[in-house]
Amino acid sequence: MTPEIRAKYEVVIGLEVHAQMLTKTKAYSNDVNEFGAIPNTNVSPITLGHPGTLPKMNKKTIEYAIRLGIACGCDITENQNFDRKNYFYPDLPKGYQITQDHTPICKNGQIYIKDEKEGEKPIKLTRIHMEEDAGKSMHDVDLYDTLVDLNRAGVPLLEIVSEPDMRTSQEAYDYLMEVRKLVRYLDICDGNMEEGSMRCDANISVMLVGSKEFGTKVEVKNMNSMRNVQKAIEFEIERQIEMVENNETIYMETRSYDALKNITIGMRSKEAANDYRFFPEPDLQPITVLLADIEIIRAEMPELPRDLFIKYTSNYGLSDYDAYNLTDSREIALFYEKVISFTKNYKSAANWVMGDVKSHLNQNGLEISEFPIAAGQLAELIKIVDEGKVSSTVASKKVFPEMLKSNEKSPLQIAEALNLIQDSNEDSILTFIEDVIKQHPDEVERYRNGEKQLIGFLMGQLMRASKGKADPKAANQLMHQTLEKL
Ligand code: ADP
Ligand code: MG
Repeated sequence: MTPEIRAKYEVVIGLEVHAQMLTKTKAYSNDVNEFGAIPNTNVSPITLGHPGTLPKMNKKTIEYAIRLGIACGCDITENQNFDRKNYFYPDLPKGYQITQDHTPICKNGQIYIKDEKEGEKPIKLTRIHMEEDAGKSMHDVDLYDTLVDLNRAGVPLLEIVSEPDMRTSQEAYDYLMEVRKLVRYLDICDGNMEEGSMRCDANISVMLVGSKEFGTKVEVKNMNSMRNVQKAIEFEIERQIEMVENNETIYMETRSYDALKNITIGMRSKEAANDYRFFPEPDLQPITVLLADIEIIRAEMPELPRDLFIKYTSNYGLSDYDAYNLTDSREIALFYEKVISFTKNYKSAANWVMGDVKSHLNQNGLEISEFPIAAGQLAELIKIVDEGKVSSTVASKKVFPEMLKSNEKSPLQIAEALNLIQDSNEDSILTFIEDVIKQHPDEVERYRNGEKQLIGFLMGQLMRASKGKADPKAANQLMHQTLEKL
């Protein structure tokens, strides 16, 4: 497609995200909720919907949904009930899913994504509701048959439905990043798309630039990574624009993404849309959420990435880039918070956390929870650099590696034991300078005759004589002064 044709069109995207909640048990039964268990071992008669069984609400799911609602500035619905969404499928043993059709627990609100021009852009939310997952059909494990694992049946889900507010595949990607970050900060979902604990359906349409009416949307399913969501959207944009250019009609349909071929394939048209025959779930009581309940949950909310970002950039003077990186993961942000509870050198703390600390984690495949240096000790290291006791290079190359090995000694003790304490004492530096001048009379003479670049050589000799311990700044000054006075 030529850039000219592409430029004629505007893209509209709305995302539906399913997030599996990190509860110990399932949404309406005591079955264990865990990923990777032996198939069909966490399946009770309640999950199977056998006659005579009754579902029972898992209170945690309400708390988790409200946490997310508060974080996104949603209205929390006071009176809610559950509905049955009926359809027949082998991985749905009950023949229906329990969901919230008319009374989603959260309405409105927004999630902010980063935006080059404005700094941030709000993506409005339509609703967040609670429902239960279906089992898992596996088509590629057995050669002849589809296998069904019902461990996933009844796992609690949050469905987060956005308004059609995104305009590029990058915005969709950024939105998913923010959703994942949020659910992880809130500790309500592990956000792992590869394992299917966070899933996304993308709704995409195209229209001529300036058009007031959105085009017909197509829904794409089955994307198991954020990059694939982005790629599927890119493919759809091209496909739809080409159709419109060829005067073909786009029909509402559900398509599936094939990651290997990087294409989308039609699955079913919305014309033959399922009639789910929603009706109120008779076996579960309606729930009422009181303002007092919301306030209790609000009081226990952790600091959110956006608040931390604002704090770091406005109060601590960090760049947007630093603040964004630090707040990317909650664990990293919490570690940074700890470090800066011991030091006011916010910038240096940020550099250490994003530099030496992160690269140690990356190189060794560690989580920050496994990082061997305590936040207070890292702050000590920052302090001895700030005090001029060791240079930042020595801190990074010599002291930090020792701290990784053992936490027996403080950074200062390590520096002392390794004889790394920087010498800013004028007398001892002057002694070194005099030695250097004596030993290199030719270079000194040439320096005095105008070859000023030889200061580099002389400084090098001085640093060598001091075994790297002379404070370079002080030494440089003294060297200049001494040479001028000769
Ligand atoms: P459905 O009933 O088919 O699920 P909804 O109206 O509930 O449709 O919308 C589902 C998702 O589709 C929402 O995320 C919404 O933002 C998005 N959406 C709605 N209309 C469009 C459109 N014209 N183009 C792209 N996305 C859209
Ligand atoms: Mg839908």
